[in-house]
Amino acid sequence: MNFRGEPKTWYGVPGDGAEKLENCMKSYAPELFFKTPDLLHHLVTIMNPAILVKDGVPVVKTDQHAGEFVITFPRAYHAGFNHGFNFAEANNFCPADWLPMGRCAIDHYKDVKRYSVFSHDELICKLASECQYLDPAIGDATKFELDYIVKQEKYGRKSAHEKGVSDGDRVCFELMPDDERQCDACKTTCFLSAVSCSCKPNILVCINHVDQLCSCSPKNYSLWYRYTTDEMTNMLDALRERLELCQKWKLLVNRLISSDQQALIDFNDIEKHSTSGILCLRDDIRIKMEEKLSEAMECRQLAKSLLKRIDSKENEIDNENQVSLNDINQLKTRVKTLGITFNEMNEIQNILSDCLGYQDEIKNLLQSDKIQTPDVYSKYIDENTRYRINLPIFERLKLFYEASVWLELVRKSSNRTNPPSKLRSLIQTGQNFQVLHEDIRKEIHQLQIQLQQLEVWDDKCRQLTKDEPKPSLSTLEQFVKSADEANIHLSSIEKIKSLITDCQQWIEKFEQMQQGEHYPFLSSYEQLYEQARHFHIDLDALKFLEQTIIQARTWLEKAQGIFRRSESNLTLMEMIAPRVSVAPKILSKKRQSAKRMANNDGPINESIGILDETIGRVLSSNENDPENVYKVYREASMKEIECLNELRDHNKKKPKDQSSTYCICEKPYSDSMVQCDLCNEYYHRMCLPYHGTDVNTSNWWICDFCTRSRRPRLQDIVKLLGSLQKLTVRLPEGEILQCLTERAITWQEKAE
Ligand SMILES: [Zn+2]
Ligand SMILES: [Zn+2]
Ligand SMILES: [Zn+2]
Ligand SMILES: [Zn+2]
Repeated sequence: MNFRGEPKTWYGVPGDGAEKLENCMKSYAPELFFKTPDLLHHLVTIMNPAILVKDGVPVVKTDQHAGEFVITFPRAYHAGFNHGFNFAEANNFCPADWLPMGRCAIDHYKDVKRYSVFSHDELICKLASECQYLDPAIGDATKFELDYIVKQEKYGRKSAHEKGVSDGDRVCFELMPDDERQCDACKTTCFLSAVSCSCKPNILVCINHVDQLCSCSPKNYSLWYRYTTDEMTNMLDALRERLELCQKWKLLVNRLISSDQQALIDFNDIEKHSTSGILCLRDDIRIKMEEKLSEAMECRQLAKSLLKRIDSKENEIDNENQVSLNDINQLKTRVKTLGITFNEMNEIQNILSDCLGYQDEIKNLLQSDKIQTPDVYSKYIDENTRYRINLPIFERLKLFYEASVWLELVRKSSNRTNPPSKLRSLIQTGQNFQVLHEDIRKEIHQLQIQLQQLEVWDDKCRQLTKDEPKPSLSTLEQFVKSADEANIHLSSIEKIKSLITDCQQWIEKFEQMQQGEHYPFLSSYEQLYEQARHFHIDLDALKFLEQTIIQARTWLEKAQGIFRRSESNLTLMEMIAPRVSVAPKILSKKRQSAKRMANNDGPINESIGILDETIGRVLSSNENDPENVYKVYREASMKEIECLNELRDHNKKKPKDQSSTYCICEKPYSDSMVQCDLCNEYYHRMCLPYHGTDVNTSNWWICDFCTRSRRPRLQDIVKLLGSLQKLTVRLPEGEILQCLTERAITWQEKAE
């Protein structure tokens, strides 16, 4: 390379013209060659190129300028001159095909006894010892050369031994300066071996010039060696092995690069070579290989992460995180295009084929003629948890499972009637699966028929419990019976059933009440009526009760009208039943409360004493017949008379001074008071309603406390009792009125 400065003119003779040049030179200066056999290698001999050309030697010429290269090939001769000062550099390159030429050059040097600048043997051995880094072409050439020189060396040593030369020691010739290891005969640089004699310790010859060492017997000679013959053989074997490996690697690379491989290449096989192998590839191929390898690493990483996700034991992994078949197929395609596979891929492949098998099984299962039992599907569903791979068919499998659960539920419950709400929910759920199978559509249809049937019955029930006119008991009984026969169960029917039971119990009670010797009291009827009033049933007994109660109440109102004084609040019973406890103290209190309550103008709404308890008691039970009532009444009447007499006596004895109080005002006696002819109590006229203007002292006068009612005519009462006889119910008031009337008639008879 010429870096800078003046040009250089080159003359060159190519390698195939070298011999012609040498002969030509020899013919022009034979004496010089005799003196200096390596004359042509000295940079001193110049011949006019025109003479050479004239003698048929091919000569070429060029001018090398700054920045230009000139390459001379082996065996080519060259000479030249500089046009001025320049700065240049020369380098030797050793491509594979140079090696045999190098050997030729060295051999030629030996012939001409020229000092060689390096040892060719040393170069070859050095190359062979580092064969792992060799380019295959260099390797091949090295092998050829090594094979040659090892044979030569072995032969040389054999003949030296035959001459009687004995072995010396191992010598590392490469560590010796070149001028100390040159053959004395041919000037070549020794490396593999050298022979010396004890007579001239500083002189060496190469294995080929043992004869020219000295005049001593070869028995005095020693053979110094770099390697034993075994070591040389091993070196050759190692090189061969390396080259074979290289050959395989090259084949493999070719297969990958040309991407026409039949089967995928395992990543491990490539990895074995890649460290050193990649270095000995042609640049374009190496780049392609490096790309392939880096993609292989990427795919492998991807495969690892897929495997990790597939094997994940975490339950939380959702569908999005699940590996999909697509993920796997994408990787598969990538690996196939790449041509390189690896362990992880094989694992994925196995899992995939497992999954596809599983998928096929499911497909077959789902295509079968009938819906299976849930456990058949759940077995497959459980299997899916083995790998976390999202199979599209799995969703359909789950749907089939749910459908089978539904179908089982429907079939299990088909022998008992479901309420309409249950049927509706079953139908609604079933509609999610009806596309799956005919059986499901059939079941849904059946359920719909059942539901319609139930709705008809339910409607009937509603009509029976809501509509007017009310149904009869027998209508209801008939309805319930037909529902039972049709095996229909509805809560509305249950309600009707319990209504019927209530009604039957009620009728029984009513009939029991009717069976007594006497009619029951009105309160019993009223109670009974209340119990059945809400029955949505057309009942004769209820109508009878209603009628009877109305009649009784009408009678009571009539009786009350006959007895009650205007504006009195007393009940009929209070007006006509005997009273007791008319003790003066109680009376005084009663008067006070009466005064507080009475409006100034109205009558005093209070009567002396309270109703006799025994009367109330005897009239509260249907068990007591009228005779009992009459007996109690008489006793109570006697008691009443006693009480009244006590009161009269008490009032009569009351002193008319400041020590006693009178009247409703509880004030002392004063003039112009009126006295009650029944209780003997005095009243201030001003304290009485209308200031007592209606009281005529000459006539019989009874105070408001003693007056409970009007005094109806006996014939009115008899008439009233007559209408009482027509009632089909007992009235306590009626009984008392009866007693009262009898008592009155007795009095009248006595008086007459
Ligand atoms: Zn020699
Ligand atoms: Zn000697
Ligand atoms: Zn009185
Ligand atoms: Zn008074």
